[in-house]
Amino acid sequence: MGIMDDNRHLEEADKKYVWHPFTQMQEWEAEIPIIITEGQDCFIKDIYGRWYLDGVSSLWVNIFGHRKKEIDDAIRGQLGKISHSTMLGLSNVPAIQLAEKLVNIVSQSLGQAQGPALTKVFYSDNGSTAVEVALKMAFQYWKHRGFAGKNSFLSLNNAYHGDTLGAVSVGGVDIFHNTFGPLLLKTFKSPSPYCYRCELGEEYSACGLACAKKMEDTLRHHHDEIAAIIIEPLVQAAGGMIIAPQGYLSEVRKLCNKYHILLIADEVATGFGRTGKMFACEHEDVAPDIMCLSKGITGGYMPLAVTLATEEIYTAFLGEFSELKTFFHGHSYTGNPLACAAALACLDIFEHEETLKKLLPKTDILKESLKDISGLAYVGDVRNKGLMAGIEMVKNKESREPYAWEDKMGWKVAHHARDKGVFIRPLGNVIVIMPPLSISNDNLTRMLAVVKDAIISATA
Ligand code: PMP
Repeated sequence: MGIMDDNRHLEEADKKYVWHPFTQMQEWEAEIPIIITEGQDCFIKDIYGRWYLDGVSSLWVNIFGHRKKEIDDAIRGQLGKISHSTMLGLSNVPAIQLAEKLVNIVSQSLGQAQGPALTKVFYSDNGSTAVEVALKMAFQYWKHRGFAGKNSFLSLNNAYHGDTLGAVSVGGVDIFHNTFGPLLLKTFKSPSPYCYRCELGEEYSACGLACAKKMEDTLRHHHDEIAAIIIEPLVQAAGGMIIAPQGYLSEVRKLCNKYHILLIADEVATGFGRTGKMFACEHEDVAPDIMCLSKGITGGYMPLAVTLATEEIYTAFLGEFSELKTFFHGHSYTGNPLACAAALACLDIFEHEETLKKLLPKTDILKESLKDISGLAYVGDVRNKGLMAGIEMVKNKESREPYAWEDKMGWKVAHHARDKGVFIRPLGNVIVIMPPLSISNDNLTRMLAVVKDAIISATA
């Protein structure tokens, strides 16, 4: 069999055997799949040798590009020792070293923040499990403290915290989450801090953060039932790259303190430099009680997640074996040594390459380009925090009328961009810009030019 036959076989076999996530397979089966075989820097190559700029960082996980030598070496080094051993009843060297390093980095980053220090690391293996851990931990914490009535959570409209049922229960993206309604936990919802489409019909800043006030109304009546507020700090990412207005996050922290509710910061998407700081919470000097990290933690190499908790939460779980205060939660691949070795290498790179400092010119390039793109006829809003950005397409700029989701406008733009060698993945009508942090200024400029052309072509 020649290479072409091999490629055809892969395409057929993909359609025959693989069920892709978040994908209408009927459409998928009607098209030729792009099958990736290789990556280098911020590019990925398909089986026909075509290179694409990885404009979504392989779904927001890749930080330093593909085949980053230091991460490759760290994983190879660990492979020569052991690939996996369990954290249930044992520990392993990279997991300990990473926990120590993370606690130090988080404490440096959030050192002066309002809120307690995060001192304990609980491992799992993806963003959704990090959130499940956080929710269960918050609930059980209050149970141990004698507040058994705190058995619900408050989350935001447009929130996205993952796809497992607990995470979906605190989600608020109707198109993804409504189907599962009958299966979900009862939770309280608060308005999304989405200024372009304010649910309360207000204008920032004259509103005086009306969305936070609305949250307080709910807390006033239901704080006895609420164990935690879970929030994506600053950027509701999968909800459409919605950037919260200045002051919102710190207001939520204050409300948590006032009403004795834990604050869970889901930094799965925003963590590890995406917003221009190591963690989004830093922008408003907020320290949560529980923090979820995943995605960029291994630079996009291996599945790994952590849920960080305060000493106070951890201590509430201590007791005699017979008291059953144990946190009964743990996954087979929890604290995987290969993944932890990759994560340790990433944290070293952040330090010695001064990744965050080097982001500044890139953020400027992005801002300039977004300003230019905002002038296009069918672009309603552009927004960014660091290197995370969203371009919201609208049918009518004046009235802000959205495209119907069935129009698939975001996908049309993505297809045009793909034809020009840039891989992006939209969220409804929002074009997402989320390249690896290591992208060069030139490649970023090129990517943004392609996105602009793709918008023009898709709306012509
Ligand atoms: N939380 C946030 C904020 C996310 O953006 C995501 C994934 N996009 C998740 C949780 C879930 O992570 P995973 O897909 O690794 O389960």
